[in-house]
Amino acid sequence: MTDYKRQQIADYGRRLLADSLTTGTGGNISIAMRAEGLIAISPSGIGYNEIKAKDISLLEFDGRQLEGRPPSSEWHLHLALYQARPEINAVVHTHSRFATTFALLHEPLPACHYLIGVAQTKEIRVAPYATFGTEELARKTVAALGHNDRCILMANHGLLAVGEDLSEAYNTALYIEEVAELYYRARSLGTPVLLSDAEMDEALIRFRSYGCKPETKDAK
Ligand SMILES: [Zn+2]
Repeated sequence: MTDYKRQQIADYGRRLLADSLTTGTGGNISIAMRAEGLIAISPSGIGYNEIKAKDISLLEFDGRQLEGRPPSSEWHLHLALYQARPEINAVVHTHSRFATTFALLHEPLPACHYLIGVAQTKEIRVAPYATFGTEELARKTVAALGHNDRCILMANHGLLAVGEDLSEAYNTALYIEEVAELYYRARSLGTPVLLSDAEMDEALIRFRSYGCKPETKDAK
């Protein structure tokens, strides 16, 4: 189980590069294995193309490291998310360009496209800024994400997506980055027309029925 999950993190790390969600060593990915009381998380300071399954850090829920390379500097954030949200088992954090552009502006992504609903919300809000890698950042981001949302922008930093599994968290990050790019482009040409509350309610009902794993962007 742990070997499979560690390989999954290595594979999705390479997808981050292929899908242009990150460059170099930016961003991080983790999976919670609740039955085993373990978290597998991408390591610190090694490029995604070089990461092998054995490099993935294995942590206990109290943060103690068991195996692998030293964990991503954002391990506090991942741990705090799993403690606050028992239904989630995967976290994807990126500095993807378009979502992060709005994070620099402290501007939420509004209901400009029905795909905002993959995050089970009507807008992607912005969590307050704190220094990267700190418990303060973990605390503020977890509080801003709340009990239901699956994605949030992190002020002057990036994007965070959570899901019941890694495929779901990853797809959410990918779709919200795509919406951020479309919104950026539309804003550069004019004033995007936003969906109404009722229209987003309908979209959310459909996402709850069908899930947020559109087959075209699912894991290969
Ligand atoms: Zn970051």
